[in-house]
Amino acid sequence: MIKAMGFIAIGFAAMELSGWFIHKYLMHGPLWMIHKTHHQPSKSFFELNDLFSIFFGSIALLLIFSGVDTLDYRFWIGVGISLYGVLYFILHDVWVHRRLKWFDRPKNPLLKGIFKAHQAHHRTNRRDDAVSFGLFLVPKKFFKDEEK
Ligand SMILES: [Zn+2]
Ligand SMILES: [Zn+2]
Repeated sequence: MIKAMGFIAIGFAAMELSGWFIHKYLMHGPLWMIHKTHHQPSKSFFELNDLFSIFFGSIALLLIFSGVDTLDYRFWIGVGISLYGVLYFILHDVWVHRRLKWFDRPKNPLLKGIFKAHQAHHRTNRRDDAVSFGLFLVPKKFFKDEEK
C-alpha cells in the first residue's frame, strides 16, 4: 500500500512538473495555436485547448490498462495522473474559469492563492508575456497577502 501511494504521488508530481514545463515552453511556444483558444474568450463550451486534457487522460488510461492485471507501478502512476486530472479540472476549469458553476470563489487561503496565480496567468492573451504556469507550483507572492 505504501508503494502504491508512492507511485500515485510520483504520477501526481510528474503531472505538475511536466505540466509546468509543457505549458511554459510548448503551449506558450510552438503549440500556441492550440493553447491560445484557452487565452481568448470562447464562444462554445469546448476549446481546442481541451486536446491537452484528452492527451494526458489517454496516457493515464494507457498506464492503468497496461498495469491493471498485476497492479504494478504503471497502474498506480496512472491513478496519480488521473487524480491530478480530476483536481485540475475542479480547480482550473470549474473554480477558476467557471465552465461549470458548481462552486463560489474560494475562501481558503491556499485555494485563493492558486486562484489568484492562475488569474495572473490569464491577465494576458499573448504568447510571450504570461506568468505563473503551474497550477500548484506558482510564485510564493500569490499566497502572501490579500491584495496581490
Ligand atoms: Zn497559458
Ligand atoms: Zn486557465
